[in-house]
Amino acid sequence: MSTAPLKFGPSGLRGIAYDSLTKEVIQQHVEAFIAVLQPQTVVVGMDTRASGPDVYEWTLEVLKKYGCDIINIGIVSTPTAQFMTRTQDADGGIAITASHNPPEYNGLKFFTSEGRYLDEITIDHVKDRMMLGSDLEAGVFGETTISHIDDTSEQHVRHVLAHINVEVIKNSGLKVVIDPDCGAGAVIDPVFISEIGLDNTSIIHSEPSAEFPRGTEPTPENLKILGKTVKGSGADVGFAQDPDADRLAIVDAEGIPIGEEYTLAFAVDYILSKQTENKNLVIATNLSTSRMMDDVAKKHGAKLIRTKIGEMYVADALSEEDGIIGGEGNGGVIWPTVSFGRDSIAGMAIILEYMATTGKSIRQLVDELPKYEAVKDKKEVESREEVEAILAKVKEVYADYEIDLTDGVKVIFENGWLHVRASNTEPIVRYFAEAPTREQAEVWVSKVK
Ligand code: MG
Repeated sequence: MSTAPLKFGPSGLRGIAYDSLTKEVIQQHVEAFIAVLQPQTVVVGMDTRASGPDVYEWTLEVLKKYGCDIINIGIVSTPTAQFMTRTQDADGGIAITASHNPPEYNGLKFFTSEGRYLDEITIDHVKDRMMLGSDLEAGVFGETTISHIDDTSEQHVRHVLAHINVEVIKNSGLKVVIDPDCGAGAVIDPVFISEIGLDNTSIIHSEPSAEFPRGTEPTPENLKILGKTVKGSGADVGFAQDPDADRLAIVDAEGIPIGEEYTLAFAVDYILSKQTENKNLVIATNLSTSRMMDDVAKKHGAKLIRTKIGEMYVADALSEEDGIIGGEGNGGVIWPTVSFGRDSIAGMAIILEYMATTGKSIRQLVDELPKYEAVKDKKEVESREEVEAILAKVKEVYADYEIDLTDGVKVIFENGWLHVRASNTEPIVRYFAEAPTREQAEVWVSKVK
């Protein structure tokens, strides 16, 4: 097992449990979080990782030290933790998860009272507090109480479905297969199916477990079993989530993964098509998300905001500009009507309503959108200097083109773009290119990799 360095940034804290992510590290971060947010009440949930209960105990010790009241929501999806933090009137939330990272990883996602990720300024304050130590007195919030809520999935699902035409989905007879990879989605998906009343739905990798047998990212190479199941059972659509169920990928009726970029494009296209009020339509996504978003925005006369990479930046843009919907091209749908976090449950509900209302198949919906070929690649790096050297090379090689330095280096060509940046959560540099042909996109990446 390699020792990956700790990462702490917009997406929270990540590391390898018991290795880089020790009890001391967890407690330092939780302590600094409490010192900055000063939360009387904190919602705490976790995904299905084996180290989850230990990380929970380490977290609990710190919360008890200051007398925070704890609402323990057990094993839940990250969007559920965000939703519960907001609706329980808590002052902050913590999800114990390493999202799409492999099983040996774990981490903490910190939320504000609104269930949003911490903004950059607050993260800087937390980092300062880690260096300076907490200035809060032990026991400042009195005596800790711990309460449990058991129906969090029901509460979350019902809130999503309150904004969805459930009748049209129920009557559509759509046949659906869901693959949560034995992660937190395995807890909420059965509730979703039951509340929506789709009798034809089945779940694979359905037992919550620490193993994630499929491969954690819902990328095409990890969706072969889902594809076979969808095709073999004559289903209309397959949905795949990552282990904390914030990301969503789609497989068509032939069992072919259509690529995560389509999840957001479909959801945004459909929600914009439902807007009847003649108001300013604003949507938001990050710099690395497909050009399909520009096309969808244009189709509906909406304004598209492009942000730095990190779901918090997209959520902030949606909040500040009163955005209708947005998210990330990695299958992350953010629907402010429900919450300011990526939510695979909201994503599935919107896309099922889209299919049921139009009677169109996933393949038909794909064919209706302009086609771009995307290449995603990555390279392991060991130091900040190595990252800087790669970015400098990109600037040099593509010096004759338009360059955007909002986040890493994005090169804008006449017929596509290349975006190279350091990951917020792993010691890697990510390459993402989109072009009319796959060959062209590959050439752009290969020149600087
Ligand atoms: Mg995730």
